Amino acid sequence: MLVDNHNRAINYLRLAVTDRCNLRCNYCMPEEGIEFAKRDDLLTMEELCKISSILVEQGIDKIRLTGGEPFVRKDLMVLIRYLAGLEGLKTISVTTNNTVIGPYLDELKELGVTDVNVSLDAINESAFQRITRRDQHQLVMDNLMAMIAKGFNIRVNCIALEGQNIEEIIPMLDLTREHNVSVRFLEEMPFNGGSKSFNTIKWNYKKIFDHIQSFYPDIEEIPSEKTSTSINYRIKGFRGTFGLIPSFTRTFCGSCNRLRISATGDVITCLYGKPRLNIREFIRLDSSGEAFRESIVDALQTRSATGFEEQEMYDGVFENSMTSIGG
Ligand code: SAM
Ligand code: SF4
Repeated sequence: MLVDNHNRAINYLRLAVTDRCNLRCNYCMPEEGIEFAKRDDLLTMEELCKISSILVEQGIDKIRLTGGEPFVRKDLMVLIRYLAGLEGLKTISVTTNNTVIGPYLDELKELGVTDVNVSLDAINESAFQRITRRDQHQLVMDNLMAMIAKGFNIRVNCIALEGQNIEEIIPMLDLTREHNVSVRFLEEMPFNGGSKSFNTIKWNYKKIFDHIQSFYPDIEEIPSEKTSTSINYRIKGFRGTFGLIPSFTRTFCGSCNRLRISATGDVITCLYGKPRLNIREFIRLDSSGEAFRESIVDALQTRSATGFEEQEMYDGVFENSMTSIGG
């Protein structure tokens, strides 16, 4: 079991498999993209498998694959098949923009990968295009409907963006009227790779809740797991649920059970901080895996109690993009 310096059990790995993406969401990356990692610096498929296997031995029982867009990595299914065979790994999930997942749905289900987080910030096509800067709306919606029909456990993540998609909050929520999905509204975070300057947010979770309640007064809170980042609700009579994620307000740090590894091997112990170390060379040079194993135990002894404490490492400006952190 991995335990950090604040006595929090760490059982959840968010593993980024690439920093590349086929969309250019304006809260995540500039139009021209970011300086993507050199190919040689990206972890290979064998390295991703080895890292996962060692961490599962150390007590990780949930792995979420993220990126960049995980499905732009052509060999992603090789990793997923490998993970599906790891004893001790209880949950494999993916976070995706839903553009290229379509051909893999049946195999994902067969492998038991039914928890999928879909990032979607607008139901309306032109709002979607404005935000993502790409023309993929129909494909994303078709894949979403196919996944609902196939019984995937879907959480749709939508960032509340002042001036861009606030009028989409209620149409997004309406997905939960007929469908058993969870739509979660996130606060915007300051990791946009230089897309725009960022001081604070206009739409925090309380304001999003008040907005929703002004349309639907009959809302009940539903129980959430202790380590959940979302506060969850159901509108009376709706099949699905909705959630609010205070990703900028950060009310959930006390129960954080997450470890992040980027596509280049950076070990990130808090979203709001800088990587603790890079494990690529440990994995490449030490075939026993011992150096990697020890480095993870050590990195977890340097975690900040909260994202606010961690943020003090910066002089106020976050230069990185979520596409290289993995969300
Ligand atoms: N490409 C995949 C996707 O979009 O789902 C996975 C990677 S993406 C970086 C992971 C998550 O980070 C997405 O849900 C996305 O909405 C979120 N994200 C990206 N930039 C963000 C920002 N500035 N603030 C809050 N969430 C952000
Ligand atoms: Fe790509 Fe996901 Fe970032 Fe959008 S949020 S640009 S889909 S990595």
